[in-house]
Amino acid sequence: MILTFPSTFKAEFRVLKGAEISEMANRPDVSSSESIGHLLRSTWVKTVDPGPYAWESGGDGKPSVLGADGALLAAPQCDKMLSGDLIFGLLWHAIESVPRGELYKFPVQCERTHPKRQYDWSINLKSQLLERGDEFGGSAVRYLSHETVEHMRARGNRFETTVAGRKAVYKLQSPSDERPIADLRKIVKKFTPAEIVAVQLIEIEGIGKSVRDRWEFTKNLDGPDLYTLFEEVQGKDCGIETGISTRCPECEWEQEVDLPFGRLFSPRRH
Ligand SMILES: [Zn+2]
Repeated sequence: MILTFPSTFKAEFRVLKGAEISEMANRPDVSSSESIGHLLRSTWVKTVDPGPYAWESGGDGKPSVLGADGALLAAPQCDKMLSGDLIFGLLWHAIESVPRGELYKFPVQCERTHPKRQYDWSINLKSQLLERGDEFGGSAVRYLSHETVEHMRARGNRFETTVAGRKAVYKLQSPSDERPIADLRKIVKKFTPAEIVAVQLIEIEGIGKSVRDRWEFTKNLDGPDLYTLFEEVQGKDCGIETGISTRCPECEWEQEVDLPFGRLFSPRRH
């Protein structure tokens, strides 16, 4: 299968073997960057377009390893891929490798009735998520702009900006965020723009290096400064909107849940 990721990285992958599907189904952390990185490195066949990623390049912007057909032969460095691309790759591998993989059923806990009831919700991952057209209210996949792709190819995942008069550098979401996120979660349960921006910023003039130092700075920003920066960072990133609208069959309460990934590689029973 040839996938064009949200970052515009385009590559060919093989489908999973039976044993690999079972291995993924049994992973407790199937959507961690380590798990998805392992998956993508095992099934990668060749790169057609590196998109914003420079790992194939020898530093001069030209690819360093070319196959006979002109395809790039350096395997993806998944720790440097954007988070949106990793989730995209995970979903397509489940769709293409598991029989009837696009049909996905998962349990939802009704948040209204007491005692809490659980119901099953089904979606078609292909038509309702990844290939959703405008008739369903816009696409769920956001792509990097051409300008951002060019920027990353030349300068990597680093974007300069100014926050409340200080020079700062931020990056788009990638596996290296996992550690600062875990650090912040120890002190804040629910993430708001102040926490998200503290993770995305990698340098702020005059502010310490740790994520806690950056968070002390972002949570004390004036609202307009914080939200302008939040929108700049979010607006540049690529990814998949994985919020799913569900409705309880008993009380008809509608609620949005984040698509759970835990059963993506389990057999489909419909
Ligand atoms: Zn209900």
